Amino acid sequence: MTTHVTHWIGGKPFDGEAARRGDVYEPASGRVAGTVDFAGREEVDAAVAAAKAAFPGWRDAPLSRRAQVLFRFRELVSAHRGEIARLISAEHGKVISDAAGEVARGLEVAEFACGIPHLLKGGFSENVSTRVDAYSILQPLGVAAGITPFNFPAMVPMWMFPVAIACGNTFVLKPSEKDPSASVRLAELWAEAGLPDGVFNVLHGDRAAVDGLLHHPDVKAVSFVGSTPIARHVYATAAANGKRVQALGGAKNHMLVLPDVDLDLAADAAVSAGFGSAGERCMAISVVVAVDPVGDELMAKIRERVAKLRVGPGDDPRSEMGPLVTRAHRDKVASYLDGGVAQGATLAIDGRDPDVLGGANGGFWLGPTVLDHVTPEMDAYKDEIFGPVLSVVRTGSYEEAMELISANPYGNGTAIFTNDGGAARRFQNEVEVGMVGVNVPIPVPMAYYSFGGWKDSLFGDSHAHGMEGVHFYTRTKAVTARWLDPSHGGVNLGFPTSG
Ligand code: NAD
Repeated sequence: MTTHVTHWIGGKPFDGEAARRGDVYEPASGRVAGTVDFAGREEVDAAVAAAKAAFPGWRDAPLSRRAQVLFRFRELVSAHRGEIARLISAEHGKVISDAAGEVARGLEVAEFACGIPHLLKGGFSENVSTRVDAYSILQPLGVAAGITPFNFPAMVPMWMFPVAIACGNTFVLKPSEKDPSASVRLAELWAEAGLPDGVFNVLHGDRAAVDGLLHHPDVKAVSFVGSTPIARHVYATAAANGKRVQALGGAKNHMLVLPDVDLDLAADAAVSAGFGSAGERCMAISVVVAVDPVGDELMAKIRERVAKLRVGPGDDPRSEMGPLVTRAHRDKVASYLDGGVAQGATLAIDGRDPDVLGGANGGFWLGPTVLDHVTPEMDAYKDEIFGPVLSVVRTGSYEEAMELISANPYGNGTAIFTNDGGAARRFQNEVEVGMVGVNVPIPVPMAYYSFGGWKDSLFGDSHAHGMEGVHFYTRTKAVTARWLDPSHGGVNLGFPTSG
């Protein structure tokens, strides 16, 4: 059985014929499980027009009404979290418990956005001049677009649209074409929650859909999450077209292990954060930096743990790690193994022929892999691999490790593992990375803080969700008001000052 996924525009599935379609795979078996329509100019125009038409009504909807719709949406997503997790797992490959985890983290942003009446409070100053008051109000922008990656088909869109919609904007989501079904299910749940038609739209497709949104004069803001080259393109194109833009890019997250730490805990963390979701997380640990003399002992402990990992289909409850998203991606990730060895690394654990629960069945499998003695000149160190390949770099000192981590062009996440509070404090103070974990390997900020890296991991000024999200999706208006009385008569050409 195959499925067919189409756009969601104006509160219902789009009924036009697609000129182009893409295949959607089931990564655990390698079979084509369905097709997805790809938007061209006509569909982009239809989605943006629906969002534009819905804007005046939604902008003027009272805050209490917007909050009520959000509360209902939150309840519906929560009630359907198992079903959404299964949709994600089937198209992405990640295990169902992990998919349920991403739905839970996305829900936290919806919960944050339920507080919108409080979050949108402006400031008020009475009597800034004689009988003059000043205040600020936060107003929505209009149509906002979100362009999201394959690796979190529910959570990353939910970093964006609950906040954008709560602020009074309307939204066009362009999810990844690799796993498009979860976004359509979320659209149906919005409709069931009572969101007016056109406030939330889903447009499927590839570069043509994205570029259509980036050039559309009625799109006022663009949020992007994906790889660094595309983030750069989106940032430059959207900004050149006068749009507000935040573009979150790729990552190379280092975990610094100091010699004083409990190595069992550090090995647990490195294996969990390196191989969870087959390493296809922007906050996955991809480089372990072991400060001498712990490298060999840490490697032995990592090896013990990796040997016990169970690789298998996402819907088998025994599986801890699923397949990669496509064959092309699996092969690209695997190419770093021979490449790393050719450049001098040691292939400490080779995942190319994993034991798969229930058999490989043509799926896109690559087991947990560890490259040891990796050095900064190697491609395996420089590139974002985005798969189950953990690199281990040995360094002589804390200073050398810090220099390495801060010099990396990416600056998404990093973690330090130590029992030394002073070292940890210095690390969080000095390291050139946007999100830092202290004995926490995947330091994804809570919904009421903001998510975003530094350097090549984020282009723009605002991080996602939290108050930075509220500011991204609103513009501030400052009002100065005086209610006239006769004592203020008379012309005065001087510059207004208080008094
Ligand atoms: P991607 O950059 O290939 O795709 C992201 C989105 O851009 C998709 O919707 C895709 O359809 C679209 N796109 C792809 N090519 C395009 C082009 N040439 N022009 C315009 N649009 C294009 O990323 P991906 O492979 O889906 O996701 C993995 C990447 O996302 C990794 O680099 C990962 O680090 C990154 N990521 C970053 C974060 C973060 O918060 N910084 C979070 C999740 C994922």
